[in-house]
Amino acid sequence: MPHDFDLFVIGAGSGGVRAARVAAGYGARVGIAEEHKVGGTCVIRGCVPKKLLVYGSHFAEDLVDARRFGWDLPSRGFDWPTLRDNVLAEVDRLNGIYETTLSSHDVALHRGRAELVDAHTIRLSSADGDRTVTADKVLIATGARPLVPKLPGAELGITSNEVFHLEHLPKSVVIAGGGYIANEFAGIFHELGVKVTLINRTDVILRQYEAALRDRLMQISTMKGIRFVLNCEPTGVERTDGGIRLTRKGDDPLDADLLLWAVGRRPNVEGLGLEAAGVALTEKHAIAVDAESRTNVDTIWAVGDVTDRVQLTPVAIREGQAFADTVFGNKPWTVDHSCIPSAVFSNPPIASVGLTEAAAKNKLGQVRIYASDFRPMKNVLAGRNERSLYKLVVDDASDVVVGAHMIGPDAPEILQALAIAVKAKLTKAQFDQTVALHPTMAEELVLMR
Ligand code: NDP
Repeated sequence: MPHDFDLFVIGAGSGGVRAARVAAGYGARVGIAEEHKVGGTCVIRGCVPKKLLVYGSHFAEDLVDARRFGWDLPSRGFDWPTLRDNVLAEVDRLNGIYETTLSSHDVALHRGRAELVDAHTIRLSSADGDRTVTADKVLIATGARPLVPKLPGAELGITSNEVFHLEHLPKSVVIAGGGYIANEFAGIFHELGVKVTLINRTDVILRQYEAALRDRLMQISTMKGIRFVLNCEPTGVERTDGGIRLTRKGDDPLDADLLLWAVGRRPNVEGLGLEAAGVALTEKHAIAVDAESRTNVDTIWAVGDVTDRVQLTPVAIREGQAFADTVFGNKPWTVDHSCIPSAVFSNPPIASVGLTEAAAKNKLGQVRIYASDFRPMKNVLAGRNERSLYKLVVDDASDVVVGAHMIGPDAPEILQALAIAVKAKLTKAQFDQTVALHPTMAEELVLMR
């Protein structure tokens, strides 16, 4: 008996949709299941709406700075429902585009849960009841979800899933976590006039980033008015009249209108029938895969956050593309997980590619460091005392630039182009041969001596 599908994909996020669309383009009969909105975390409750809130919140500073540039703005009123609803409308538009992509490639969309029964059989459930389908191959792309610590009252806090839907802005927020989401939302909330306290369990924020950039972000954020409470060990959360009280070990409780948990994300592996199908997990409860994203079951693959390799959207998309090209397009290739650029859309943003100074010293021994610590000319005229910091890490023996790290306005936009040079292993001498483009912030990258 032939199977109902050549490929069945569980999860219609960035990785799953890419794989489904490309496999269908190669002529495969493809089905896909999604229990939430098509588009996944990035489009529906992650990168995209977050970036729009970053843009929206930054007007707070832009409108202040505008006066120094001659603009007379009588009022700076802000209306949260307008920003929230416009962002959510954009999310709905993108959701529609993702659905159209699937239907235009004849991918059958099941709106509901999918669970493996065995290596070829999937049970699909929805409000209309259950049915089973069979597929020659299965791809699991179920992503990850926010971690909520196991503490009494932890459920009184919200996560990044809910933060885009707030009915009204709180007056104060405690953000638990020192990573991407915590620092990005600290910037957004602060710009929107919310009193922000960021707490973390250690004395480090953004642990994987270059130390000098982390220090600079903390210094600028503190100067703006964001409070950092480090080495903080929460013991529980209670409801108060106006919001929440977070109790902590060895210190006074913290009160706020809102608590946001941003302490990491865990792979969505529960309730998928992985045991029934015999799919093995890693020690960290992610789906274990090889370089081709194949699990230990030879009809089942997995891509994206559920495999917990690098939790970034463009990586999931590449893994989905590589899977479809390899398995359905007869064009085998694997994703290179090294030298991946990344950014934190804090205020100001951080962007980074390659090795930090510490990692380069460990790996290569002798390294040269070039740094530029400067005040962008726009900040100078605006009277804004915020300095940018760019840093290049160079392997002394080969002169190859092995790491580039930036904090400052537009750092992620600049770094995407710079990442090509670092990935291509260009040397510092080649950077120096490039003529500066004046006057820009990015010219600092070719002027460091
Ligand atoms: P991160 O992994 O960035 O940071 C987690 C933070 O929470 C760290 O400060 C960590 O502390 C702390 N932490 C970890 N586990 C616990 C725990 N059990 N209890 C208390 N604190 C804990 O997580 P996020 O939630 O911010 O983001 C999740 C992932 O989503 C990121 O890793 C990233 O890959 C992705 N993402 C990417 C974005 C981007 O590209 N701009 C934006 C948002 C998310 P410590 O390090 O001190 O131990």
